Amino acid sequence: VGDHDTKFESISGKRVAVVGAGVSGLAAAYKLKSRGLNVTVFEADERAGGKLTSVMQNGLIWDQGANTMTEAEPEVGSLLDDLGLRDKQQFPISQKKRYIVRNGLPMMLPTNPIELVTSSVLSTQAKIQILLEPFLWKKNDSSSKVSDASAEESVSGFFQRHFGQEVVDYLIDPFVGGTSAADPDSLSMKHSFPDLWNVEKSFGSIIVGAIRTKLAAKGGKSGEAKSSPGTKRGSRRSFSFKGGMQILPDMLCKSLSHDEINLDSKVLSLSYNSGSRQENWSLSCVSHNETQRQNLHYDAVVMTAPLCNVKEMKVTKGGQPFLLNFLPEINYMPLSVLITTFTKEKVKRPLEGFGVLIPSKEKKHGFKTLGTLFSSMMFPDRCPSDLHLYTTFIGGSRNQELAKASTDELKQVVTSDLQRLLGVEGEPVSVNHYYWRKAFPLYDSSYGSVMEAIDKMEKDLPGFFYAGNHRGGLSIGKSIASGCKAADLVISYLESCSNDKKPDE
Ligand code: FAD
Repeated sequence: VGDHDTKFESISGKRVAVVGAGVSGLAAAYKLKSRGLNVTVFEADERAGGKLTSVMQNGLIWDQGANTMTEAEPEVGSLLDDLGLRDKQQFPISQKKRYIVRNGLPMMLPTNPIELVTSSVLSTQAKIQILLEPFLWKKNDSSSKVSDASAEESVSGFFQRHFGQEVVDYLIDPFVGGTSAADPDSLSMKHSFPDLWNVEKSFGSIIVGAIRTKLAAKGGKSGEAKSSPGTKRGSRRSFSFKGGMQILPDMLCKSLSHDEINLDSKVLSLSYNSGSRQENWSLSCVSHNETQRQNLHYDAVVMTAPLCNVKEMKVTKGGQPFLLNFLPEINYMPLSVLITTFTKEKVKRPLEGFGVLIPSKEKKHGFKTLGTLFSSMMFPDRCPSDLHLYTTFIGGSRNQELAKASTDELKQVVTSDLQRLLGVEGEPVSVNHYYWRKAFPLYDSSYGSVMEAIDKMEKDLPGFFYAGNHRGGLSIGKSIASGCKAADLVISYLESCSNDKKPDE
C-alpha cells in the first residue's frame, strides 16, 4: 500500500485535460481527480451529460437520450457507490415484461427456457433449432468471403449460423434496432457482441458456452459472497434514477469544482511538444460567443469527443501538422425520439412492463417505428396519474429519412403504431420531439479499421488517450468502463514519465 501511495504522490498535481463531458469523459475525470490529479474538462455544449439528457416539464419527466442502464461492468457499481447514488437508483416496475411484435401483435418475450417452449414469439421449428444449437450450429466458412478479406462477419450471419433466420428476424433484428438503431446485416459481430464472439471461439456452441459460463460464475459468486457480503448486485437489471438519467452526469459534475469543468468550450486544436518533460500538451478552445482561449498546458489528454468531431480538430506534433486523415469516415445512425402522453381512458389495451420492439419484418403490418418504452408504466412518478407516458424511437438504419421528419409527421407515425399496439384512440395530449443527427456510431464490418486508427493516434501521440462509445461498446456502462480505463492508462503513463525523470533530478 505504501508503495502505491508513493507512486500516486509522484504524479499528484499533474495536469490532465479531458475533452467531452459525456458520461465517459466525466467518469475519467472523476477517477483522475480521486487519484490526486489536476483535471480540467472541456465540453463544447452548454450542458454536461452528452447523450444523457433528462427534461422535467409540465409535471412530466422524460429522457431525450438514454433511458436506462445496467451494472454489468464493475466500474459502474463502484461509481454508483462512490457518488452515493444508490438511494437515487430507480428500477422499472415489471421490467422483465418486454414485448416483440409478431403478426401485428405485441407478444411477451420469454425470459427462461420453459417460457420459450410455451411462447408464441417463435415457431416450433425455430424453438427446436435453438434447443438443438449445440449439435446443429455451423462453423464460419470464411472461404466464402471473397470480396473484402478485412470485412468481418455480420451479426445476422453469426446468429443465422447458430439459431437460424427466424431468430435473426424476430429477436436479433428488433434488439439491435432498439439498442443501436442499426440492422443486423450491417453490424460486425466481433465489434458489436465481442463476448459472444469469444464464446464461440472457446466453446463453439453459444448455448453450451452460456451454460458453462453461468455455472462458472455461480461457483465464483459463492466464493465472493464469503469475502464481501452485501456486494452482490443484479448486474443485468436495467435502472434509471429518480429524476431521470441526467442525475448521473449531474452528480459527476458536482464532484468537480467550477474551475475544473469548462462548458461551452469547444476544443479546436491540440499540440504536442516533446521538448520539456512536463506539460507537453497545449490546447485551444472556443465558446459560442467566439471567445478563444489558447495555450492551456497539460501533461496528458483524455479525448472522449466522437471521432467525427476529433477529425475536425487541428493537431500538431513537434510544431508539424499531425494529420488525422487516417481516421476512417464513420457511419452514424440518425434517430428521432418522440415523447407522447395519452389520457388513460384513450389507451384501450395498455401493456404493463418495459416496452415493445418492432422487427423490420413487421413493416408489412404497417409499423414504421423501431419501438416504444412504456415510460410511465416503468416509472409511474414521471407523469400525472391520469396519463400514460410513452417514449418512441424512429429512424436508425431502418428508415434514415423518417428520422429527419417533422414533429407533425412523426406524431402521426407514432400515434398510428401505438393505435395498432395498444389501442390508443385519438390524438396525444402532449408531444415532445428530439432529433439526434448522429445518435450512434455504426460498428459495421469495417470497424476494425476504426480501432486501428484509434490505436495509431494513441501510439503516435504520447500522453493522448481515447475513450467513449466509439470504442468497446455503445452502452452507458461500457462508456463508463472505457473512461475509467483511459484514466488508468493516464496514471500509468504519468508514473512512467515521472520514473524516467528521476535520475536527472
Ligand atoms: P457522448 O455522450 O456523445 O459525449 C461526448 C461529448 O463530447 C459530448 O457532450 C459532446 O458535446 C462533446 N464534444 C464533442 N466535440 C467536442 C469538442 N470539440 N470539444 C469539447 N467537447 C466536445 N445506452 C444505454 O446504456 N442505455 C440506453 O437506454 C441508451 N439509450 C440511448 C438512446 C439514445 C437516443 C442515444 C442517442 C443513446 C443511447 N444510449 C443508451 C447510448 C449511450 O447513451 C451513449 O453511448 C453514451 O452516453 C455515450 O457517452 P460518451 O461519453 O461516450 O459520448
